[in-house]
Amino acid sequence: MSSFDPQKITKIHRHLHSHLPPEPALRVKAMESLLVEKGLVNPDAVDAWIEAYTEDIGPKRGAQVVARAWLDADFRARLLNDAGAAVAEMGLQGQATGHLKAVENSCDVHNLVVCTLCSCYPFGILGMAPAWYKAAEYRARAVRDPRGVLTEFGVDLSDDVAVKVWDSTAELRYMVVPERPAGTEGWDSDALAKLVTRNSMIGTDRDLSGGETNGRRS
Ligand code: FE
Repeated sequence: MSSFDPQKITKIHRHLHSHLPPEPALRVKAMESLLVEKGLVNPDAVDAWIEAYTEDIGPKRGAQVVARAWLDADFRARLLNDAGAAVAEMGLQGQATGHLKAVENSCDVHNLVVCTLCSCYPFGILGMAPAWYKAAEYRARAVRDPRGVLTEFGVDLSDDVAVKVWDSTAELRYMVVPERPAGTEGWDSDALAKLVTRNSMIGTDRDLSGGETNGRRS
């Protein structure tokens, strides 16, 4: 008869856990499998939903909104006053756009968005949230050391630029309106929208003058 060896059990336990995906991913997978098994969810619908939010909606819709704000001062004012109504005006209302607030960068203000509690995000216009946005490290450090986080994303701010950190909730989600790059006078909205990165609308990218690959981190 074999004897119980707590150390060996601990070792096996640790080994098993070290080869498993992160716990939330497992939980989601288990939930999806159960819903599919019970006939409550069609796996094709889940794939279509993910494709829509990664390819069709985000971050293209947000970029269209920013481009319009750059071109149309009246729209920009309406966007900053009531972002939900402004995106609805463009026919872009959708999931999580009802309680949307737009915050604008300027030469002396930089805005950074986080959800310290979980991962609230205006996915109706920005699409799927990047993995780092949902990570505990970003959620904690964005409020504790926003300038340090920004430096890691390649955004070096001088001391005279104030950083405002906005903590999202399910009731209030934020998007950043980045500054329009110099030298884009006369550009149409499609060309301008191509400059707007997803990260710039979260606040982890700032200078869009280098084109659409500038400062991007996936
Ligand atoms: Fe959240």
